[in-house]
Amino acid sequence: MVKVRFAPSPTGYLHVGGARTALFNWLYARNQGGTFVLRIEDTDQERSTQESIDQIVEAMTWLGLDWDEYYRQTDRTDVHLEAAKSLLENGSAYEQDGAWWFKVPAGETVVHDLLAGDVTFNHDQIKDFVIRRSDGTFVYNFVVVIDDADMEITHVIRGDDHLTNTPKQIMLYRALGRKPPKFAHLPMILGPDRTRLSKRHGVTSVLEYRRRGFLPEAMVNFFARLGWSHGDQEVFTRDELVKLFSLKRTGSSAAIFDEEKLRWLNQQHMKLADPSRLVDLVRPFVIESGQVTEEMWNAAGDERLTLSAELLRHRCHTLIDLASMMLVLFPVEIEVEDEIALDDRQKEIIASICDGFSQALSFSHSDVERLLHAMLAEQGAKLKDVAHAIRVTTTGRAVGPGLYNILSVIGSEIVVARLRDLIRR
Ligand code: GLU
Repeated sequence: MVKVRFAPSPTGYLHVGGARTALFNWLYARNQGGTFVLRIEDTDQERSTQESIDQIVEAMTWLGLDWDEYYRQTDRTDVHLEAAKSLLENGSAYEQDGAWWFKVPAGETVVHDLLAGDVTFNHDQIKDFVIRRSDGTFVYNFVVVIDDADMEITHVIRGDDHLTNTPKQIMLYRALGRKPPKFAHLPMILGPDRTRLSKRHGVTSVLEYRRRGFLPEAMVNFFARLGWSHGDQEVFTRDELVKLFSLKRTGSSAAIFDEEKLRWLNQQHMKLADPSRLVDLVRPFVIESGQVTEEMWNAAGDERLTLSAELLRHRCHTLIDLASMMLVLFPVEIEVEDEIALDDRQKEIIASICDGFSQALSFSHSDVERLLHAMLAEQGAKLKDVAHAIRVTTTGRAVGPGLYNILSVIGSEIVVARLRDLIRR
């Protein structure tokens, strides 16, 4: 039975690397029908904060990475103390200046990494190390072993920055007479310039991506592809990932963090999303724009909002894009992509279209089509004479969904107001 854990130190936000580690553990557990443990490694009490724990939990919840067991390492101090004493007693550790040190034996340790293969560490290169500080607190390399052993973790899946810790941990397992788990060290994540991903690359906490209008399923898809692949498929639903994930298809070479790809993936997932869910998700972004109040939003009606989200999402990369497009539904000033200047003839045509529209009793897709063509016929004009001007003026953009559809969703009142405004200019 597979049992894995994500073991963050709560000293900051959940970052991209941590989220990728959490996801790979979660996917492995769910794929194998195993158990996923969240263990907060808070033994460094000076740097650990409750705020960070809350952020980590919130980010994991947002990503949908649910856990089956939850621990805080500091709740297990008694167990750690017992284990440390046993090492002093069996001569594997010694006391010096109040701190307790593990005595590194002569020889070598081979880490059989599931991804990188065998990596040999000669003990000549490894100095004795502290397991318990003089203030009585325990050190990561020691407690991680006690906890992984007690919790019967079968696979330790973590970033490859921990590879050099692994021989120390294996020595501790041996000294304690316990069986080490299997290890898989995930390849490093690099920025587009091929240096180790850091704040310099503008890559921030996971929750920052929520604020920037990304969908959790797009993030999960994106993180999964930082090291794992399945043929040349790029877009995966969460269920597909759970079904297809395997450590065998996880590579050992560095993964590149490409924000353009994330934006593209987010666009794909926005197209897959249930439109009424998009409406719920985009709402705070629209309200945040300051142009639309809660009352205005509620008055717009669910059906109209859902239809517009469905029509407008195709060209959007993020919820922020969608929010700015959805402003067209409201009586607010919208940004236009292209300055439209009408000649007199066009003014005449559009004026008569406005007359037709403003008398409309209903404004469905087919009403818009019928009215528009009736007014054009009356003027002896063609749709192409005014289509661009109408589209840009009412939606702000030169390209977009079908004209009748979008006009119908915007509604006759706002459409006419925007067009009359254009004629006046
Ligand atoms: N607390 C460690 C970290 O956040 C955990 C490493 C591990 O998974 O063993 O880096």
